[in-house]
Amino acid sequence: MEGIKKREHAEIFVLGKRVDDVTAHPFLKPSVKSFKATFDAAFEEDTRGLARAYSPFVGEEVNRFVHIHQGPEDLVAKVKLLRKLSHKTGTCFQRCVGWDALNTLYVISGKIAEREGRKEYLNRFIEYLKYVQRNDLALAGAMTDVKGVRTLRPSEQPNRDAYVHVVEEKAGGIVVRGAKANITGVAVVDEVVVMPTRAMTERDAEYAVSFAIPLDTPGVKVVVGRQINDGRRLEGGEIDGLPYMFNHEGLLILEDLFVPWERVFLYKEWRWAAQFVEVFSNYHRQGYAGCKSGLGDVIIGTAHGLARQLGIADKPHVQEKLTEMVFLNEAIYSAGLAASWEARRLLKNGGWWVDPMYANVTKHLVARFPYEVAKLSHDIAGGLLGTAPSEADLKNPELRPLLEKYLQGVPEFTAEERLRMLRLLENTSLSVAYLVESVHGAGSPQAQRISIQRVYDFQRAEAIARRLAGLKAEASGDARAEPRRPAEAEK
Ligand code: SF4
Repeated sequence: MEGIKKREHAEIFVLGKRVDDVTAHPFLKPSVKSFKATFDAAFEEDTRGLARAYSPFVGEEVNRFVHIHQGPEDLVAKVKLLRKLSHKTGTCFQRCVGWDALNTLYVISGKIAEREGRKEYLNRFIEYLKYVQRNDLALAGAMTDVKGVRTLRPSEQPNRDAYVHVVEEKAGGIVVRGAKANITGVAVVDEVVVMPTRAMTERDAEYAVSFAIPLDTPGVKVVVGRQINDGRRLEGGEIDGLPYMFNHEGLLILEDLFVPWERVFLYKEWRWAAQFVEVFSNYHRQGYAGCKSGLGDVIIGTAHGLARQLGIADKPHVQEKLTEMVFLNEAIYSAGLAASWEARRLLKNGGWWVDPMYANVTKHLVARFPYEVAKLSHDIAGGLLGTAPSEADLKNPELRPLLEKYLQGVPEFTAEERLRMLRLLENTSLSVAYLVESVHGAGSPQAQRISIQRVYDFQRAEAIARRLAGLKAEASGDARAEPRRPAEAEK
C-alpha cells in the first residue's frame, strides 16, 4: 500500500476528479483492500501453503500471484487459492490478470525462442519476471482494446488509435498510443502488462505489441468505471457503505507513452498475436473456476443464513434451491480442476498450460450459472433484498426500536444481523464481479463457443458413431478417450 500511495505521473480519475492517493480514496479503498488480500494470503495460516511457490527463476519462494506454473499441481493450487481468496474478499481481487499475463509472456516468448531461435524477447521477459518476483509486484493485465468498429481490423479502423499501437520507434524504445478498456484493478497496481487483443494480419503489425510499464508513467491516464451502488462507498458507515472489499475496472489511456526496449516483449509480431490471446484467455478462463465458485460459496452461505433467520432453512423447497445452488457452483469448480489436472506443456521445459476444452467449458459455465445462483439466492432471501431500509434508518434512535421489532424473524437473530446479510447478498450476488464479469471477463460467451467448436473433433465423434451404426468408418488409432483437435497453441 505504501508503494502505490502517491503517484507523481499517472493521472487517475474517479467520478470526474483526479485522485492523488488511491489508498485513501473511499471509492478505491475497498479495491486496494481486496488487492492487499493477495499479499496477506502468503502470510495467513489458512492460505500460506497455497499462496507461496518456489520460483526456479529467482531461487526462492515467491507469492503465487507472480509465479510461473511448473506443473499441473501449480494450476490446481491456483484454482484453490482463488476460491479461498473469494472467501476472504467477497469480490474479485484483481491480481490474477497480471499473473496470467506473466505466464502467457513466458509461453509466447519461449515459443518464439524455440521455434525461431530468437531469444531476445525471452531474455527480456525473464529479467522482468525476476524483478516482479523479487519485488512481489501487483500487475494489471491490459488486453481488451476499445476496438472501434467491431467488423474492421485494427489497421482498417477510421480511428487509428482504436487499438493500442506503436507510433514511433526510437533508439531506446518505442512510443505507443491507444486505450484499453475494462482493465481490472488498474488504478491500484504497481505495473501494467499490455497485450494484443486479437488475431492480426501483416497490415496490423504495428498493433501486435506487448510491453510492461509502471502505472506511474507520464502519459498514463486511468478513468475508473462506475458500478452499481457505488455512491454508497462515499457514505461511510459499517453496513451500507461497503466496509469490506470490492473491485474496480477502468479505462487505461496511453497517450504517446515511451516504453524502453527492455520492457517490450512483442514488437510487430503479428503472427503470434492469435496464439497470445488464446494462451492468455484460457489461463484466465480456468481461473474463474476458483474465484467464482468462491463467490458462490459466499452467496450460498448468505442465502442459508437468511433462510435460518426466517425459520425456513429446513423447508423442502428451500433445501431444494440450496442444493441446486451447490450443484451449479461445484460444476464450475470441477471444470476448472479438470482444466488444471489435464494441463499440458507448451515448451520443451515447461510452459504449463491448461486443457483448452475444460478451460473454455469452465468459463462458459461461469457465463451462465452465477445468474442462476443469484436468482435462487434472491428467491430465498425474500423481497426485502430489494427494499431494506438503510443503515442510517437503523441508526436513527426514533426508528431503531421499530425496525428491530418489525425486521426480526426468528428471535435469536437481530434485525441488524438480517440487514447485514441482506446487504452482503446484494453486494455479492448483484455485483459486477459475480454477474457482468462472469459473462464478459476473459472473453464473452461467443469466444468460448468458438474455442469449444474448434477443439472438439467432430470427425472423430462421427467415426465413433458410424462404427457403432455398422457403417464403414476407419479406426482412428487415437488412444485418447476425448475426441480432440489441438488448440493453436498446441500445434
Ligand atoms: Fe482473479 Fe477472478 Fe478477478 Fe479474474 S475475475 S482477476 S480470476 S478474482
